[in-house]
Amino acid sequence: MQYMLHLSIKHLDLLHNHAETSFPLEAVALLFGRIVEQSFIVNRIELMQNEASSSTTSFMVNPEEQYRLLVEAEKQDEELVGIFHSHPAPPVPSIRDEQNMKLNDVVWLIASKESGNWLSKAYLMEDQQIKEVDLCLI
Ligand SMILES: [Zn+2]
Repeated sequence: MQYMLHLSIKHLDLLHNHAETSFPLEAVALLFGRIVEQSFIVNRIELMQNEASSSTTSFMVNPEEQYRLLVEAEKQDEELVGIFHSHPAPPVPSIRDEQNMKLNDVVWLIASKESGNWLSKAYLMEDQQIKEVDLCLI
């Protein structure tokens, strides 16, 4: 069965806007919601500050801030369903992303504006293989 990321157009616009204002640095955001079988449903997004030292090619979030958000989500019966970041390059996982995907078992949503407009693609690591996740805009 195919994995799906359910995301509102409003949230996708906010993510792309975050990518645009952060450009040429990589923008990062956390996606919270629920996972039902193969569906990753986003209810809420948190735009984050990129704290990586070379933030044009990588991203990092403040671990304390991330921990605080995870605890808050759990109280609201939500979980981390995805991690968003933007690329100066095509919207495909980099080698570094691939390593991080093995550690963070959620959907990875990657944006790029290589074609002029921001475009996002979603991926998931399964059995050490990268699988593309369908975007379902709601
Ligand atoms: Zn990346």
